[in-house]
Amino acid sequence: MAVRVRMAPSPTGLLHIGNVRTALFNWLYARHEGGEFRLRIENTDTSREVAEAVDQIQESLRWLGLDWDGPHTFQLDRMDDCRQVADGLVADGKAYEDEGAIRFRMPDEGSTGWDDVVRGRVEIPNETIEDLVLVRSDGRPTYNFASPMEDVWDGITHVIRGEDHISNTPKQINIIRAIGAEVPVYAHVPNVSGADGKKLSKRHGAVTVDEFRKDGYLPEALLNFLALLGWAPDGETTIMSRDELVERFLLERVSPSPAQFDYAKLDWMNGIYLRELSLQEFAHRLVLWLGENGYEWDAELVSRAAPLVQEKIARLAEFPGFAGFLFGDVEPDPAELDGGAPMLESAYTALASLEPFDAAAIELVLRQAAEVLNLKPRQAFQPVRVAVTGSKVSPGLFESIELLGREKTLSRLQAAAAAVA
Ligand code: GLU
Repeated sequence: MAVRVRMAPSPTGLLHIGNVRTALFNWLYARHEGGEFRLRIENTDTSREVAEAVDQIQESLRWLGLDWDGPHTFQLDRMDDCRQVADGLVADGKAYEDEGAIRFRMPDEGSTGWDDVVRGRVEIPNETIEDLVLVRSDGRPTYNFASPMEDVWDGITHVIRGEDHISNTPKQINIIRAIGAEVPVYAHVPNVSGADGKKLSKRHGAVTVDEFRKDGYLPEALLNFLALLGWAPDGETTIMSRDELVERFLLERVSPSPAQFDYAKLDWMNGIYLRELSLQEFAHRLVLWLGENGYEWDAELVSRAAPLVQEKIARLAEFPGFAGFLFGDVEPDPAELDGGAPMLESAYTALASLEPFDAAAIELVLRQAAEVLNLKPRQAFQPVRVAVTGSKVSPGLFESIELLGREKTLSRLQAAAAAVA
């Protein structure tokens, strides 16, 4: 039978990165097996919040390139079907009414077990599983009833989900058996934790896909990073393209031990992906990111600044800090200009009539100016850098000056010289 898996998010807010990792394992498994990946929304109402969350979930998945097969479905659409099944179970004596609710009769003896792809054999003594409410007194089916029913109706072959659902699985298996359907294969993947071993949360850093996007991670880098949270093709390979991940992903190789989210490693990996982009593509990603984040910066100038920063930044969001001086005014800290007046003035004079106004010529005359003042280049260039870029840390000084242009450079040098005169 062809593999069919699903992601079944509860639309309660922005997509958590741990859920995305689980979705990714589903997606990789489906694509590796040539099967289907379904998107199923586990909603119990149709409020505006739900609609927004559904949009956000889809937008996050699209951004990451996790495409799903067929239309997304809503749990709410299956409420009547669930109630009918519950009535049938009551008629068969497998469920009973209890204060207006319908409860499922769990077996009391023996145990319920399954061969979990990730964790091996799991057996839960039936005496520990209480009779489950299928339908509440207000008519709403519970998660533990609706979810396995949908798995059956959707023909889900493998339920790949977080380990926090392990305690639900024996309940769901018993329901599926009671209606005479085939029980899917289960794979409970480990939780994603922070460095302290606790479940990944806001305290640790960014947790929603939106936040990672805002922080300037590339979707392909994030995907590569997430794939390695609990899975590895071998002991060595870390950088893998989407196609390579699909080709190499094996559910059997997912480890049951908790996976630690290492933000520093993600930065490192994102930096690698950024540097691997062609200059044109890198510039394109910068322009997109800036546009998404409210910067109305000239795309042409962004493209020209791109080569100055490609080697320097690990996340797109670092671009404004490095190159913002090209797009807006700067406010140099006078303390950082201290003692720089002679060099600032010499630089002004040297650049005022320089032709051509390019990085090589700029470098030449600034070095000459430093020599005349008997200053070491580093010492001489510091106040010029601070005056022109507003910061001690900047892209290459001469390229920066060329890009900024003569007019702005001169007026910044002049203002800085006046500030420390
Ligand atoms: N809505 C559940 C979750 O987001 C889905 C559980 C499942 O995959 O069965 O954790």
